[in-house]
Amino acid sequence: MKLARFDDDRIGIVRDDTIIDVTTLVDARPRDWPPVAMVRLIANFDRYRGKLEAAEKGQGKPLSSVRLLTPVPWPNKVVAYPVNYHDHGVEMGSSIRANSQGFFFKPPSALSGPADPIVLPINAGRRIDHECELAVIIAKQGRDIPREAWRDYAFGYSCLIDAVIRGTEERATRKGFDTFCPVGPWIVTEDEVGDAASNLRGRLWVNGELKQDANTKDLIVDIPAMIEMASSVMTLYPGDIIATGTPAGVGPMRPGDKVKIEFDRVGSMTLDVIQGDSGKNSIFTKPVPPQPKT
Ligand code: MN
Repeated sequence: MKLARFDDDRIGIVRDDTIIDVTTLVDARPRDWPPVAMVRLIANFDRYRGKLEAAEKGQGKPLSSVRLLTPVPWPNKVVAYPVNYHDHGVEMGSSIRANSQGFFFKPPSALSGPADPIVLPINAGRRIDHECELAVIIAKQGRDIPREAWRDYAFGYSCLIDAVIRGTEERATRKGFDTFCPVGPWIVTEDEVGDAASNLRGRLWVNGELKQDANTKDLIVDIPAMIEMASSVMTLYPGDIIATGTPAGVGPMRPGDKVKIEFDRVGSMTLDVIQGDSGKNSIFTKPVPPQPKT
């Protein structure tokens, strides 16, 4: 099942090129604040599953007639794994890997959706890169989750771009800007992916040119181990998002670019890149030290 948010915070099921509005069925209230209807739905999914499966067979309206929003706009946290593909570690000249360094966070306020542009901040000419990543959406609350139990805790998947200003400052400072975490176009539930999660191809294009071509079979810390590692530190909650890391091929985004991300079995979204006028800060005016090559 593909679960989407759309228009004024409505919830829908996407089927082919249509969307079926299930807002009332899942007891969601559009424009509620904070916008946690999808988190509630994920937390109580077993209660709604039967009704949703029946609704999925009904008549929808054209997907093109709605504005899709990021599926989980108010998660408890967005956990992200750095340098989780060897080829990306090599291109960055980095000697660390996710299996020795663990994870970081992106702020939930950085989340944006499939119809939203990536807004580049003012950053004194620093390079701003795209990172093509599979997002795992957490199903239920858990701590110290053993890797064998991972599928009970994986609700579904989405496409995620981990945007970043290159440099050596703390990751949250460089990766935390508004719109630096597009997630979408919807959540495809775990049962539609199954074991294929460990062999999912994801690609990213800039202006039609293929830049990144990933497969989750090349992850250093795989999805079960990511859930195990994150939950060893902190309680995971329904709707939490894990950014699983990026393969080689990261590169700059510039105003006017169109960035497309696609994962097999999940979907795709194409985002405009525009220049914004926020973000001016002296931290980005100092030069970046040269990166060692390995
Ligand atoms: Mn990343």
